[in-house]
Amino acid sequence: MSKTTIPLIDARQRPVALTAEARAAIQAIDLNGPILDQLSRPLRDLRISVTDRCNFRCSYCMPKSVFTRDYAYLPQSDLLSFEEITTIAQASTRLGVRKIRITGGEPLLRKNLDILIGQLSALRTLDGQPLDLTLTTNASLLAKKAQALKDAGLTRLTVSLDALDDNIFRAMNDMDFPVADVLEGIDTALSVGFSDIKVNMVVKRGTNQDQIVPMAAHFRGTGVALRFIEYMDVGASNGWRMDEVLPSADVLAMLQAHWPMQALPAKSKGETAKRYGYLDGNGNLDPSLGEVGLISSVTEAFCHECNRARLSTDGRLFACLFATQGTEIKHLLRSAEPADATFVAQYLAHTWQQRQDQYSALRQAGVIPAGNARERIEMSYIGG
Ligand code: SAM
Ligand code: SF4
Ligand code: SF4
Repeated sequence: MSKTTIPLIDARQRPVALTAEARAAIQAIDLNGPILDQLSRPLRDLRISVTDRCNFRCSYCMPKSVFTRDYAYLPQSDLLSFEEITTIAQASTRLGVRKIRITGGEPLLRKNLDILIGQLSALRTLDGQPLDLTLTTNASLLAKKAQALKDAGLTRLTVSLDALDDNIFRAMNDMDFPVADVLEGIDTALSVGFSDIKVNMVVKRGTNQDQIVPMAAHFRGTGVALRFIEYMDVGASNGWRMDEVLPSADVLAMLQAHWPMQALPAKSKGETAKRYGYLDGNGNLDPSLGEVGLISSVTEAFCHECNRARLSTDGRLFACLFATQGTEIKHLLRSAEPADATFVAQYLAHTWQQRQDQYSALRQAGVIPAGNARERIEMSYIGG
């Protein structure tokens, strides 16, 4: 689709009954050609939220004041089944997806998740390779589930941990959950053979910035890569304020005051983290000391290379973390005459070709204001 083409369906809202003309045009999309969005970005990374529920109440994501006992979570019948998720994931591989991240809410709360992992691990990329199949978790259930996830074919893991200090961590997850149990989850994951584990730390100025150096000291040389994430204005409920963002540049300066470090080249296009390695006493990079990553979603937008889409728990495709609407996909699979695999892929392609999103870049440029927006969907619903 050229940049001036008017979309045949406004598929970003609710299910639409396709006109015969729209259906024919979607069916004419050539999946063998490059499928690019309006800013010439391909789709390479699909993040799949498998539940909108969580057993933590991190203030920056699901604050207790909003996510109360009475909060209306999605009914079970609205959740995509494992078969539906696999069908959509398989369709996405036909557009070039190589990496799938399972997320949520807390994905390990979804029953029998290892069955889904098994199904997804059987999928192949366009060039016949296994997918990079990973999962982001708060690790509260990881010690119990790590072995089953590994056996099912999960290739990598990301664990969220915002502090080593138990009091700070208990306050940040707001469920009094101890650090020791997260660390036990990480240890179990290492012992069952996960060799590529990342730890995500969301940095909030005035809350956990004192934990930056202790966290780096703890994971340095362990093979676990620590990533510092700037606190983002996602969703509508976390009460985000710019003065609570600690820029990645400041985080890097704090680290470099303790250890000499060197920037590492990006492993792939669209990589979210800028990586730094530790130097040895002679000023040479020492890979045995590992690396840290800085994710600067607020101060250094990376929208121009963003190749990610998010599939919500109830089957909508979101082209941006800060989107207000998603494209309903589930109805294609649940209608009286379900779409075949090729049509699902063409429908995804048509949706991707309409994408213009670049929220962080526009926020950084001052084109749109920073901060939460009432109509914006929550991260726990579309996945991080
Ligand atoms: N519950 C899982 C977990 O916490 O790892 C997976 C879902 S969580 C939404 C995914 C990631 O998003 C976590 O690493 C979390 O720290 C991050 N996140 C949530 N809200 C954020 C915010 N406002 N700014 C930056 N990162 C955020
Ligand atoms: Fe739950 Fe993860 Fe959000 Fe924390 S960041 S509330 S663990 S979904
Ligand atoms: Fe991608 Fe949207 Fe984030 Fe930009 S703001 S990097 S387009 S998800």
